[in-house]
Parts: sequence; structure tokens; C-alpha cells
Amino acid sequence: MVRPGVWWIRLPLPFALDHINVWALEDGDGWTLVDTGFGIPPVQAIWRALSSTLLGGRPVHRIVVTHYHPDHIGLAAWLSERFEAPVWMTESEFLTAHLAWSSTTALTAAQLRHFQCHGLSEDWLHSISTRAGGYRSGVPTLPDWFQRIRDGDCLNIGGHEWIVRVGYGHAPEHACLYSAGLRLLISGDQVLPRISTNVGVWATEPEGDPLGLYLDSLNRLKSLPWDLRVLPSHGWVFDGLHERIDQLAAHHSARLTELLGFCNEPRSAGDVLPFMFRRELDPHTVRFAMGEAIAHLNHLHQRGDLRRSRREDGVYTFQRVRSL
Ligand SMILES: [Zn+2]
Repeated sequence: MVRPGVWWIRLPLPFALDHINVWALEDGDGWTLVDTGFGIPPVQAIWRALSSTLLGGRPVHRIVVTHYHPDHIGLAAWLSERFEAPVWMTESEFLTAHLAWSSTTALTAAQLRHFQCHGLSEDWLHSISTRAGGYRSGVPTLPDWFQRIRDGDCLNIGGHEWIVRVGYGHAPEHACLYSAGLRLLISGDQVLPRISTNVGVWATEPEGDPLGLYLDSLNRLKSLPWDLRVLPSHGWVFDGLHERIDQLAAHHSARLTELLGFCNEPRSAGDVLPFMFRRELDPHTVRFAMGEAIAHLNHLHQRGDLRRSRREDGVYTFQRVRSL
């Protein structure tokens, strides 16, 4: 228990990032759940056990989903059906979940083309294209209706007011929940204690600047009190929201400066991978690494620090703009 009536549940994930935190908030005679876990049988088994243990057989009144990623929304439809509880989420996350779920082969091909245009090697492109899985491997079904939440909305949960704070950059309209009374922030993936949140550019919005949006969202979270206890989706609960935001901002700023130095020569996102990611990549992580590399390059380009050109083979390269 993090605070009276606020319970922390850690569910397993089948990746290197091996867990996700979800939250059960006491809500009158029942519960509000925040996030649901990856949609696989072992996680369903844990929820079955929890419904008679922690949840004590009491009803679930609503399921809040912070964003559309499979570890957060994976079991929303299943839990919603099981508990006859509505799913509350932002509109962009609901729609993006459906887009990702019904992702066509054309969309997958567009994603490969996007990486190709950013200089990912043929070997990597091949291993990504033959990799099984995808969104549905963690999201067996999706809710086909939802209750919309928007930035600034106030949810009354068990007599406490929780305000929706929307953030951008990691997902299209990521919801965090803030309770002034309980001095808590359910931060989802928007602020994480040890790792930095993935911010990527994908084929659906190739000219996007999600890193700019993310840094801006972090900054806006600083209007919340500094002494909140933060409940993140990965890692441990922590105190010191402002300190962590400052660390993350400093981390990105240092990385952008390094990257700018590396782009004294024209570089593609593919060239930048080994420079930005010193650890070994695999077909799962290389996608995120590419998305992130393009996000950093797009940000510097849109800020006016990098010039973008297209080589004869169609690959985008970025080079530092020299001030005279
Ligand atoms: Zn996420």
C-alpha cells in the first residue's frame, strides 16, 4: 500500500523490462484500477487470484488506462468484461490503440520504409520484417467503446479528487493522475525513476517532434508540488518529482549536445545508432532505438541546429548548421 486505499500491484512482462506497475484505488464499495498489464495468460492468472485476495471479491467500478501501449491497455477489455466496468481513457489513446491493433500490412511496410529512409541496414530491416508478434501479441482484444477523459478533468475516486494531467511525446495523449489531497502522482510512463521514457518517431508521423513535446510536457509537470510521491509504471515509487524532471531534462540536453557534435559530418539515424546506444541491440530494441534516434535528429533539425538533406539512395542525413 502506497497511501491508505492506494495499492501497488507489480505484474510481469515478457521483456528485458520485466514488470509493470498498476494501481488499485479503493473506490467506495469497490475499486478503480489504473492500467491493466500485458495481455497474456500468466497475467490473467494473477488478476484472477487478485480478484479474490486483494480486491476481496468487491466490484471494479472503472478501469483507467494511461495510454495505448500493450503493457498498459493489454487486459483492459478482458477486465472490463469480467468486472462489467467501463474503460476510461483519452480519445487519442483509444483511437491509436485501435489503429495499432488493426495495423495493416501496408502500415508495417510503411514502417520499414521509414527506417530504410533513415539509414537502417538491410540486415536489421530483414530481421524486423520477419519478427513475429506485434501489437496484438500483448493486446488480445480491445474495448470497443470508452469513457473519455481530458486534460484537467477531475475524477472522484473513493472520496479523493484526482486530476487528469495529459502529457505528450511518449504516446499521443498520455494521462497522468494527480491527487493534491493524497499528494500522489500516477505518472504512467511520462516520468520514470531510472530509465528515460522512450520517445520515438514512427512512420505515421515522420516529421513529428515528439522529443520537443515530451520535454515541454515534463516542464508543465513542474507546476505540480515538488514533494509529491510519484507512482511510475516501471521501477520503484519515489519522492522528488522536480528533481527527477530536472535530471531527465539535463540527460536529454547532454545527449542532444553530444549528438550535435557527432553530426559534424552528415549522419543518418542508422549511423547514429551505435553512437547513441552503446548496448547490444536486438530486433525488438532496435525499433525503439531507431525511433528514438530519429526523434533526436528531428528535434535538432526543427530547432534549426541540423540541416537535413537526402542522399542519392534516398536516405536522410543530418549535418550541423555552422554559424558564421
Ligand atoms: Zn508506454
